[in-house]
Amino acid sequence: MMTVTYKGRNAVYVNITNKCPCACVFCLRHNKDSVFDAGSLWLEREPTIKEICDSIDAWDLEKYDEVVFCGYGEPTERLDVLLQVAAYIKAKGKTKIRINTNGLSDLIHGEKTAHKLKGLIDTVSISLNATNKEEYLKIVRPKFGIGSYDAMLSFAKDCTQYIPQVLMTVVDVVTSKEEQEKSKQICESIGATFRVRPYEAN
Ligand code: SF4
Repeated sequence: MMTVTYKGRNAVYVNITNKCPCACVFCLRHNKDSVFDAGSLWLEREPTIKEICDSIDAWDLEKYDEVVFCGYGEPTERLDVLLQVAAYIKAKGKTKIRINTNGLSDLIHGEKTAHKLKGLIDTVSISLNATNKEEYLKIVRPKFGIGSYDAMLSFAKDCTQYIPQVLMTVVDVVTSKEEQEKSKQICESIGATFRVRPYEAN
C-alpha cells in the first residue's frame, strides 16, 4: 500500500511524488523512510488524481487546520495534478491548502508558475535555506545550478502577489543566528514571512 496521505500535527499531508530536482544535504529522504507516523513515503509509482482524491476523502477535513502538499519529493513537479486536487478540496469545503516547496517550480516547468496557484492555494512555504546563491548551491544541490537561488527568490516574490500567506524557511540545526537574521531581512525585502523550521518538519 502506498502512503498518499498521512496525518501530521493538525494537518493532512499529501504525498504526490518522489521526484525532486534537488539533493539537499539535510533531506530526510537520505536517512529516513517516513515522517510523523506515516509509514514509508516512498511511492511505488505516482498516484493518479483519482487515487489522491480518494485518499483525501478518507479524512474528515473539517477536523484539520489544513491540507499540506509535502511528502517525499517536490510537489510542484506535478503542478497540474496538484492544482486539480486543490480544486477538488476547495469544492468540498473551506479547508486551507498549503504547499511546502523548494520554490523551483519556474525552473522545473520552464515558465512563470506562481500565478497558477491563485485562488487555490492559501499558503506557500518556500525553503530559503541560504543567504546567497553559492551557499544555496552547496546546501540544496539543485540540478539547475547556480541560477537556482535567484529563480527561487523570483518565484517567492511572485507568490506574494497571488497567495495570501507566503512563508520562507530555513532549517534550525543547519543555520546560525546570524544567517537567520540575514534570511529574515531577505524575506522581508520580498514581502514574505520568515520562519525557522525544525529539522523533522522538512
Ligand atoms: S527539496 Fe525537499 S525533497 Fe528535495 S532534496 Fe531538498 S529537502 Fe529533499
